[in-house]
Amino acid sequence: MTGDGLRRRRIHEIWTQLHNHPEPSMQEFATADYLAELLGGAGIRITRFASFPGFTADVGEGEPRVGFRADMDALQQVVEETTKAVHSCGHDANMAVVATVMLELAEKAERLEGAVRAVFQPAEELGNGAELVARLGVTDGLEYLFGVHLRPQNELPAPCLAPSISHGACLFAVGTITGEDHHGARPHLGANAVDIALEISAGVQRLKVDPQIPSSAKMTMLRAGGENLNVIPGNGTFGLDLRAQTNEAMSVLRDGLVRVCRSVEASTGSTIELDFRDEVPAAVIGIQAEEILAQAITTTLGSEYLRPRVVTSGSDDFHFYTRRSPSLQASMLAVGANVQPGLHHPRMSFDHSALDRAVGVILEASQLALASSKTSVVSTD
Ligand SMILES: [Zn+2]
Ligand SMILES: [Zn+2]
Repeated sequence: MTGDGLRRRRIHEIWTQLHNHPEPSMQEFATADYLAELLGGAGIRITRFASFPGFTADVGEGEPRVGFRADMDALQQVVEETTKAVHSCGHDANMAVVATVMLELAEKAERLEGAVRAVFQPAEELGNGAELVARLGVTDGLEYLFGVHLRPQNELPAPCLAPSISHGACLFAVGTITGEDHHGARPHLGANAVDIALEISAGVQRLKVDPQIPSSAKMTMLRAGGENLNVIPGNGTFGLDLRAQTNEAMSVLRDGLVRVCRSVEASTGSTIELDFRDEVPAAVIGIQAEEILAQAITTTLGSEYLRPRVVTSGSDDFHFYTRRSPSLQASMLAVGANVQPGLHHPRMSFDHSALDRAVGVILEASQLALASSKTSVVSTD
């Protein structure tokens, strides 16, 4: 069998195993066991995370300066009337690609110009897996970090690839309104939680963000009042979904929401508490990392396969790694895979030849990044 045939068979085997054993966020123990055993068996150094599923895998001599991130979780979805875990975001593909790259690097470990680290991370779909892993410091010594993700046809048709994905930032807020109930006949005696929530909803619509940067803020949940329609509710809960293409625009929305709540609080006398949760930062793309991926696509496949940066309003917790280490050169390879009917659809399927292309490009990128990190070490000495 040719090298290409061997690679294809290996990716397919790994993908099939992962695809048939999906596990939801923070429960990816069997997934991590399978991959750690597979890579460990090939002589790759495995270090497990102590308090949640996942591990790092190192190959080559010395401290790794180039890394890859693979996310491991599946989504809980209703399929044929049963709720179960499904790999509908293609994280099985991301893992299969990164694992295959590591196995191929291990086969030529003695010729590697440095060490490479793969990070198998849990809970991307919860939006906080990367933050937990980053806090362990496993990416602190890296100069380059590459991610990989399949893209739907409307964003990037197969067989093309793009050297980066510009994800937007996402933030949820839950607000609690505390006041007192009053009789429907005596509205002058206190504030109405429904009116307060509507005022906040209208207030966030009026926030001014640079119109060149896509952003949106909207109330997505409101609870107040009960069965008795003659009671003016003093208490309520509301939720908001904030999106912005840059972290700066997200700060404008976040600070604006706080200001709106403080102003409504002052005018009504009710207490409004805000709880921000599930924050995912926008992409901060490393220009050198992006250039390396672009060069790797051109060298491996040809310039006709190279497409420009993919811009998406979707989010990915990958960008917590650059938040922890702002000097980290990070970029996510976008893999055109004709995902049908779409990411997060329980019957999601894709063009499997995309996996093969992704492995080739990431292998080439790892060599380029190792060479470049070696040069930068020499130049700073
Ligand atoms: Zn997803
Ligand atoms: Zn995903």
